[in-house]
Amino acid sequence: MDNRTIAAIATPNAPGGIGVIRISGENALEVADRIFRPVSGKTLSESKGYRAHFGDVYYNNEKIDEAVCLVFRAPASYTGEDVAEISCHGGLFVTKQVLRAALDAGAAPAEAGEFTKRAFLNGKIDLAAAESVMSLIGASGKQAAAAALNTLDGNLSREIKGVADSIIAICASLAAWVDYPDDDIEDTSASDMLPVFESAQNSLKEIIRRYDCGRAVTDGIDAVIVGRPNVGKSTLMNLLSGFERSIVTNIAGTTRDVVEEKIVLGEIVMRVADTAGIRETENVVENIGVNLAKRRLERAELVLAVFDGSEPLTDDDIDIIKYCESKRAIALLNKSDLPLAADRKIIENAFAHSVELSASTGEGRGELEKAVADIFRTNEFNPNAACLTSERQRQCCVNALASIEEAINAINCGVTLDAVNVCADCAIDALLQLTGEKATSAVVDEVFSRFCVGK
Ligand code: GDP
Repeated sequence: MDNRTIAAIATPNAPGGIGVIRISGENALEVADRIFRPVSGKTLSESKGYRAHFGDVYYNNEKIDEAVCLVFRAPASYTGEDVAEISCHGGLFVTKQVLRAALDAGAAPAEAGEFTKRAFLNGKIDLAAAESVMSLIGASGKQAAAAALNTLDGNLSREIKGVADSIIAICASLAAWVDYPDDDIEDTSASDMLPVFESAQNSLKEIIRRYDCGRAVTDGIDAVIVGRPNVGKSTLMNLLSGFERSIVTNIAGTTRDVVEEKIVLGEIVMRVADTAGIRETENVVENIGVNLAKRRLERAELVLAVFDGSEPLTDDDIDIIKYCESKRAIALLNKSDLPLAADRKIIENAFAHSVELSASTGEGRGELEKAVADIFRTNEFNPNAACLTSERQRQCCVNALASIEEAINAINCGVTLDAVNVCADCAIDALLQLTGEKATSAVVDEVFSRFCVGK
């Protein structure tokens, strides 16, 4: 493992009350001693772990700030190494100066996620828990934060390990039987194995189902607002995002490109794109918006199709209804504060979910919230149960499940037990990749590259 001593600013790149510079590695305390002088006159290198020291920070022999330095001793630290954390005044200039001082004093700049990667490599946390650190940092709701914390506590890894261990136990007796068929080893019968595989199958299905219900809560969803001009898309966008973002006018075609906004609807984070509509247009600028709208529409997980309820449906509306046929969509019959003139039956027949609302007054927002929660089944999400926190983890579970189902099929078809053994091995591999026990360095690098510097 890389034994450089690394340093980075751990707090956001913005002015704040406190800025933290984290230094980790074999020489962390020596590096900190070169730039930080405790008022006690002692050095940090003589300090015990879990101690806070008040003192001055120096750069080029010049005092640059007063600060508190926390000392953590290996292995009782976040990274498992010696760590010094200097909490200085949180101005951008000051924190950068302190970092520069640490780098001049012998530390190397930390890469994205390198502190957490070291925690993983030093066995402080497993890969699933490391990933949940990022989920916790990125959580924008109470449930998403609770789910991430749950995984950080190791609940997911324990559940996955439980499944893996049950298969490992079966494999051990299978392997003995496969390798030494003539020896007097107790025969592992299909009837012993089947319940173990079936129980593993049920556990993994449940874990995947939980993730799928919770994904809208933990990762958010890409949604798009579509509708012909003037039905109230921009007004709706403003209602959902809570402030004036799109330009609202009653001149058709005012919204020229895709405006994206992150909004929280109940516990769900939606990245909502308002579009210029999906009609063809001669106007070059507007056309850019139209094309962007089409692309965004294609990858959206949810389409909010807006109709003007105060007018009869037009041919453009019918086109949009057809466009939504193969999508997961909610019809929004807007302007419910005005008398209804649109044919509600046509909308209700075409969409599994439709909501009457007024983007101007906000009436109907609760119904929209409920429709989205129903579609993504977030009501079934339990943040207190072990939860997958990334697509990578989900894929590991899907792969393990496929191998387990192959093993079950093999047993049911009477295929020889060595074939079952191969399937079981693949399932174990996939599960240990999830926790990181068998993850390749490429996978590990990929996971940590998505972290921020300083974490
Ligand atoms: P867009 O072209 O689809 O983005 O439509 P806008 O959001 O620009 O709205 C077009 C017009 O409809 C504006 O004059 C809005 O004030 C009006 N409007 C939007 N939503 C409502 C609503 O719920 N009720 C009423 N009465 N007017 C609305």
